[in-house]
Amino acid sequence: MNTKVAVRKCRKYDLHEVFNLISEIYKVCEGPEASGKKILIKPNILIDSNPSKCISTHPVVVEAMIRYLQSKGAAVFVGDSPAVHLRGFKSEKSGIYQVCQKTGATWVDFAIDPYETTLKKGKIKIASIVREVDLIISLPKFKNHGLVYFTGAIKNTLGLVPGFTKAKQHALHYDRQRFSTFLVDLNEAVLPHFFLMDGIIGMEGPGPAQGIPINTEVLIGSTNPVAMDIIASTIAGYKPMDIPPNSISISRGLWLKDINEIIYDGPELQTIIRADFKRYPITGNENIVIKFLKDKLPILKKLERRPVFIHKNCTGCMECIKVCPANAIAMHHEKENWVVLNDKKCIRCFGCSEVCQNNAVEVRRKFFG
Ligand code: SF4
Ligand code: SF4
Repeated sequence: MNTKVAVRKCRKYDLHEVFNLISEIYKVCEGPEASGKKILIKPNILIDSNPSKCISTHPVVVEAMIRYLQSKGAAVFVGDSPAVHLRGFKSEKSGIYQVCQKTGATWVDFAIDPYETTLKKGKIKIASIVREVDLIISLPKFKNHGLVYFTGAIKNTLGLVPGFTKAKQHALHYDRQRFSTFLVDLNEAVLPHFFLMDGIIGMEGPGPAQGIPINTEVLIGSTNPVAMDIIASTIAGYKPMDIPPNSISISRGLWLKDINEIIYDGPELQTIIRADFKRYPITGNENIVIKFLKDKLPILKKLERRPVFIHKNCTGCMECIKVCPANAIAMHHEKENWVVLNDKKCIRCFGCSEVCQNNAVEVRRKFFG
């Protein structure tokens, strides 16, 4: 497989500049022929939110990608399935739906008539548009993720799974290693053809939704998901093999057998690594003995990072409750805007912290309560 990764410095969301850089990156990475093709662009729209929060792919990056593909003669479709996905969803707060209207690209609702595909283990629903287009272009966002540490190309494919089927996957694959293995399996079944990561302003700290925007000033492109994620996580200051989807992909010899196979095109990597980027601490995967002890000694479970609800920030919107795959949270029966956690049921997927837009869910250790 093509192992090229191109990185270009980019300091602001200027449409003309981003368009030119995308043209260059696409050419360097030998992106697929777009002329006459039907192409789905899949941004990262974890939550429909204002671009200033940096939760989603910036609308200027989406627009520049649409315009680039249209200039090559492609018919462009755009869509994603957010964490809480109801039929008729349009990403208006992010500005991405308006970009579609402006450019003539077609917005697609992934919730309509998904089809079923087979993974290594089990089956999964996928948005029907995936079968109707010739190519998929994925636009991940440069940011941290509580469960897999860093979210990139491999993780962004999860948005092709519509609605609450996604949340169910957290319950089925309830720890870091299992969830990462599932993500790799999913990409083996449905692999986008080109990836462009929006790292102009990334998100450090408690991503993927409650982190802090940071000027990371890069656009990264590749046709190879793991090669892209290795370069992106390196720029974020991680050791790339600490990111489970990267190490699992490499151990399977999927899109890359060895990190040294990457053909890198861009500024000297050492000069763009963000040592100051606030990363998640790498805690590794638990062995079977620790898992057993945790089941037997609940006090040990308290040593883990877990969702902690900050009641004074809570608006009672219940988005966290809708997305929780383990039914581990509920509103307090008396207190207003007060979410109660059933710690025994919680599988630590951190979906609640992903969807909360009010900084009312922190992921940290809490020994009491
Ligand atoms: S914790 Fe956040 S998502 Fe949950 S109800 Fe409160 S504000 Fe809404
Ligand atoms: S409470 Fe939060 S972390 Fe726990 S299972 Fe539910 S969504 Fe996941």
